[in-house]
Amino acid sequence: MESRPRRVAVLGSTGSVGSQALDVIRQLPGHFEAVALAAGRNADLLARQVAEVRPKYVFSEVQSPALREAAELAGARFIPTDEMAVAGDIDIVLVATAGAAGLMPTLGALELGRPVAIANKEVLVMAGHLVRRAMLAGGGDMRPVDSEHSAIWQCLWGEEQHEIRRILLTASGGAFRDFDRSQLAAVTAEQALNHPTWKMGAKITIDSATLMNKGMETIEAMWLFGVPMEKVEVVLHRESIVHSLVEFSDGSVKAQLGVPDMRLPIQCALAYPERMPAPPAATLDLAAVGSLHFGKPDMDRFPALRLAMEAGRLGGTYPAVMAAADEVAVERFMVHEIGFLDIPVIIEQVLAAHESTDDPDLETVLAADADARRQARAVKVGVPA
Ligand code: MG
Repeated sequence: MESRPRRVAVLGSTGSVGSQALDVIRQLPGHFEAVALAAGRNADLLARQVAEVRPKYVFSEVQSPALREAAELAGARFIPTDEMAVAGDIDIVLVATAGAAGLMPTLGALELGRPVAIANKEVLVMAGHLVRRAMLAGGGDMRPVDSEHSAIWQCLWGEEQHEIRRILLTASGGAFRDFDRSQLAAVTAEQALNHPTWKMGAKITIDSATLMNKGMETIEAMWLFGVPMEKVEVVLHRESIVHSLVEFSDGSVKAQLGVPDMRLPIQCALAYPERMPAPPAATLDLAAVGSLHFGKPDMDRFPALRLAMEAGRLGGTYPAVMAAADEVAVERFMVHEIGFLDIPVIIEQVLAAHESTDDPDLETVLAADADARRQARAVKVGVPA
C-alpha cells in the first residue's frame, strides 16, 4: 500500500470517461486524488467538479464566472493541458479529451517517463507511431482505458510480445448490427444515438453504429501493443461480456471478461499494477448472462471497418486522413445532410484521393488532417431518404 494517494490529472473531466474516472477516484479516496482537471466547453460542469474535487490545476477552453469563482475558492491555478501533463506533482495522466487536443499532453507525459491512461482514440489513430516512439524514448507506459484494449492489456500481463499470434478485438456490432442495407440507408442520427449497451458521447456512438469505432480500435491495438495489422482481427460479440482476447503462439487463447461498465477499465488503468476493490454492481453473474455469442463482422454492410483496417495496414498519413474524414462525415450525418451509408462513402473517396507520406512528423499529420476535412466537406452524396 502506498503512503499517499496517487495524484491524477484528468484531462477531459466533463466527458463520459472523465466523469466516470472522477467516480472511481471518489470511491477510492485513500488511493487516488484528482489534482488537475481539464475540460473543453462544459464550464458549468467543470465549475461543479472544481468545487467538489478542489484540484491544484484547472484548464477550460471556455470561461465562466462560476468556474472562475470555484477555481479561486479551491485555490486552483489555470494552466494549459500540456503543462498539466508534465507538472512535477502529477503521478499519472488520464487522457480522456476528444480529438487532437489529447496529443501534446500525451507526448509530453510519455517523454517524461510518466504513465498515461489513454482513452483518446484520435491520438493513437492520427499519430500512433509518434506516441509509441515517445513512450519507448521516455520509458513511460500507456495504460489503455477502452474496455477492449484494457482486456488485451490484461491478457498480456506476464506474457512476451513476440508470443502474440493474434489479437481478437470484440465488437458489439453497434446499434444496427441486424439491419440490412435498405434499413441502414434509412437510419437517422436520433436512432443511432440509442446504443444498446454502452453509455457514450454522440460521435463515438455513431462510430460504433458504422463500426468505424471498431476500425479505429484495430489501429489503436497496433500501436498500444506493437503488433502489425495482420495480427489484429475483429470478432462480433453482442453481449459485451468478453472484452477481447489474445491468442498466443502455442494456440492458447486468453480472454478478459466483466460487466460492461467503463469504470472497471478506468480503475484498472489508474490502479495498475495493483487491483483495487470495485463496487458490488461490477460483479459478473455468468449464469444470469446464460450464453455468449460470437460471429464474423459483415464488411459489406459495414465498410467503415474495412476502410479503417486498410488505412491502418497502409500507415503513413492514411489513418489520420481516415479519422478526419470520418469526423466530418459524422457531423454531416448528425445535421441530416447525408445518410448513414454515405458516411463510409465519403471516407472512401477522401482516402482514395489522398497521397500518403511515410513516417510523417506531427506537422505533416496535422496538414493531412486539415486537408482531409476540407475534402470531406466537399464530397457530394445523395440526399438522405
Ligand atoms: Mg471500445
